[in-house]
Amino acid sequence: MSYNAYGLSRVIPSDIKRVVRQKCGFGCVVCGLGIVQYEHVDPEFKDAREHDPNAIALLCPQCHAKVTTGMWSKARVKLAMRSPKCLQQGYSREFFDIVDDHPSLQFGGMLLRNCPTPIEVGGHPLFSIKPPEFEGELFRFSGLFTDSDGHVTLSIEDNEWKAAKRSWDVEVKGNSITIREKARKIHLILKVNPPKEIIVDRLDMALAGLRFEANGDFLRVHFPDGGVSEFTSCIVDNCMVGISF
Ligand SMILES: [Zn+2]
Repeated sequence: MSYNAYGLSRVIPSDIKRVVRQKCGFGCVVCGLGIVQYEHVDPEFKDAREHDPNAIALLCPQCHAKVTTGMWSKARVKLAMRSPKCLQQGYSREFFDIVDDHPSLQFGGMLLRNCPTPIEVGGHPLFSIKPPEFEGELFRFSGLFTDSDGHVTLSIEDNEWKAAKRSWDVEVKGNSITIREKARKIHLILKVNPPKEIIVDRLDMALAGLRFEANGDFLRVHFPDGGVSEFTSCIVDNCMVGISF
């Protein structure tokens, strides 16, 4: 662990990081990409006496490198902090890497393999996996997630994910995206294991009068009439799960 001349640790406390994410709309303040690093802008870390969330920006690795190499000025970042890209456009974004022969979807306790439309809800695809459009390109995963109020939190179209700025918190760490509706209420943990696995590890989602609840090994679907279907260690191959109500 390193410290500056004022004894301030380089490690930013997690609650400060969350405030920075919220202020920046969960992505790079300049370009909106969702893979980010934390940069002390004004004052710079060497001159900082505290981790002030108003002085820290989210930057993607490329924009960050342009600042640290001197190609871009700190003034540019400060300008972007006043009107972060993700707050302007309403979302942060990035791409999944899905190369393999037909990727699989682990949806709580349900493993779906070789399924072009793994799950339909009320006749509409909740997820779809299309083959590459041209040779040498990627499989194309699409889908969407909604919070417990039914608002879209994460939409995915042909591997490009967009995390809505309305969420309380969106945190991208390693290969997982965690979205929280409020403190201690996880709405979604989505993991990708390139090149072949997409994993919905945790989910609490309301859609079309249904509630989807996934946690590790199980998937529960709660129906409007009070009925519940639970799936554990369920493998679906070359097929589709249709949920009607
Ligand atoms: Zn950027």
